[in-house]
Amino acid sequence: MRASNASSDLRHESDPLSADFAEQVTQRESDDVLEAISESAQQELRLVQGALRRLEEGRYTTCAVCGEPIEEERLQAVPYTDRCRTCAEGSPRPGGERPRRRPG
Ligand SMILES: [Zn+2]
Repeated sequence: MRASNASSDLRHESDPLSADFAEQVTQRESDDVLEAISESAQQELRLVQGALRRLEEGRYTTCAVCGEPIEEERLQAVPYTDRCRTCAEGSPRPGGERPRRRPG
């Protein structure tokens, strides 16, 4: 009883907030602008969400492709990147020799 109560409470809290926010944004920006930015913004949002997840899992600074640590310089320039500079520039050998392994 208590648990379901709490989760419905959380839902209730986020709903009016997002609706309110969306309305404010719509009022401020024209639909054209929103459409123009939405594509790249959505893509960026996905990258950021992925970065946050990796951060939680403790592999934020680990390249998702080769498993090497991502350069700190690069993380500062592109905070949501999931791969090191070498892999980002395009891996010369798709398919890779090393199998990807997850710690744990
Ligand atoms: Zn890499």
